[in-house]
Amino acid sequence: MRARFATTLVASVLAVAAVVAQTPPAAERVATVFAARMLDPVSGRTLSNVLIVIRGERIESVTEGSATPRADDPRFKGAASVALPASMTVLPGLIDGHTHLLLEPEDAVTPPVLKKSQASRAIQSVTAARKNLEAGFTTMRDMDSEGAGFADIALRDAINRGVVPGPRLFVSGNPLTITAGYMNLLGFSPDITLPDPGVPTDTLPAMISEIRRNVKYGVDLIKIYVTGSLPQVTPDFKPLPQFSFEEVKAVVDEAARWHKDVAAHAYGGVGARNAIQAGVRSIEHGILLEDEDIALMVKHGTFWCPTLTVYMHEPGLERHGDAFMTEVLARHKQGFQAALKAGVKIAFGTDVGGFEHGEGGREFEYMVQFGMSPIDAIRSATVRGAELLRREKDLGAIAPGRYADIIAVEGNPIEDIESMRRVRFVMKAGTVHKEPPPRRPL
Ligand SMILES: [Zn+2]
Repeated sequence: MRARFATTLVASVLAVAAVVAQTPPAAERVATVFAARMLDPVSGRTLSNVLIVIRGERIESVTEGSATPRADDPRFKGAASVALPASMTVLPGLIDGHTHLLLEPEDAVTPPVLKKSQASRAIQSVTAARKNLEAGFTTMRDMDSEGAGFADIALRDAINRGVVPGPRLFVSGNPLTITAGYMNLLGFSPDITLPDPGVPTDTLPAMISEIRRNVKYGVDLIKIYVTGSLPQVTPDFKPLPQFSFEEVKAVVDEAARWHKDVAAHAYGGVGARNAIQAGVRSIEHGILLEDEDIALMVKHGTFWCPTLTVYMHEPGLERHGDAFMTEVLARHKQGFQAALKAGVKIAFGTDVGGFEHGEGGREFEYMVQFGMSPIDAIRSATVRGAELLRREKDLGAIAPGRYADIIAVEGNPIEDIESMRRVRFVMKAGTVHKEPPPRRPL
C-alpha cells in the first residue's frame, strides 16, 4: 500500500515536472544586453560593443567587440534582447550606502513619529523604493527607520519576494542612541510619553539587548549614533560624543557574534575616534572630521559615507545661523578632500529621504566638484559599495557570476558627471525595471 502510494506520488511529480519543463524556469531564462559603450569601474576602462548574456538573475558572460546577437543564433533562442544606443553608457547598478526609505523630505519639518503611522510610512516607502530603483540604485544600505519600527524589514522582504519593485536592501531597523542625545524628541513636556525616533540605550545591558532585538526581527546591520545632533555641536565645532570606546567595542563585538557590521553616525572628534578604534565598519556623514580621525580611518580600514547631498540643502539647518552652517559645510568639504588625499575608503552615500527620493545621483556631482575623479566617484557607488557590504562576489561590477544589475545613462559620465542623473535603463537581477527600448524576440 505504502509502496503503491509512493509510486503514484512519484508519477504525479514527474508529470508536473514535465509540464513545467516546457517553459524555462526563471533561473534559466536568458536575456542579452548589447552596449555600444560600457564603463567598467573595476578596470576604469570604457569598452565598445559589449554583449552581456544573462541567465536567470546573474550575468553569464561579457564579450567585448561583439556584434548585436543574430536572430538565428541558437544560443539566444527565445531570449529577451536589449540593444542600447551609442549615446548611452552602460554601468553596473548603483549602490547607495546611506539611505532612509522610510523618510520623506517633509519629515525634516515635523518628526514623522508625531504625524504619521508606521503603516502610512511603510506605504510611502513603496513609492520611494521605486523612484530610487528607477534612478539607477539597484542596491541600498538603509540606515534606520527613524521610528517606523521594522517597516524597513517589511519593505526589504516585499521587494525580495517581488511584491513591489525596489532596490536590493540591507537594513538596520532601530538605531542605538542615548537619552537626551540624537534621535530623541526634545523640547516636549516630560508629563507626556512620546516615541523617540531612535532607541535610547544608556547602559551596556540595554545596548546588547537592543542589538539582539534588532537581530531577532531580521536586520542586516546595526546602526549606532556615536555623536549627537547638529544643534548639540559646540560653537567651536565639537560634536557631542555619545558613547565611550568600551561601549562601542561591546556593540561591535555583540554585532559580530551575529555576523553583523556596525555603521556609526559620527560627525567627527572624540565620538568618531571611539567608533573607529572600536572597529565599526563605517563612519556616516563625518561633516566635522579632524585630521586625527582621518588618519585613524586609514589605519583601521574604516569606510566613510560622506552624504554630501543632504547637507547642501537640508531644511532646518539655518537655525544655527548662516555663519555656523557655512563653516560646517566648508569643513565637510575640507574633510572630504583630506580623506581623498589620505586614501580613506569613501563609499557613496547620500542620506536620500532627507531630500527627494530618486535624486541621489546628485552626490556624484558634489564628489567631483570637491575633487574626486568621475571614475572614482562611480567606483564609490559600485565596487566600493559592494566591498562595504561584503558582497564583492555578487554586486558592483558587470562580470560573470554577479547579479545582472545593469543600468544605462544618457551621455558619458567620464566627460559629464551630470549624466549619472539621466538614467534611461535599469535592470536588477535580470529583470528590466525602467524604459527598456523595444525588446524583440530573437
Ligand atoms: Zn542618515
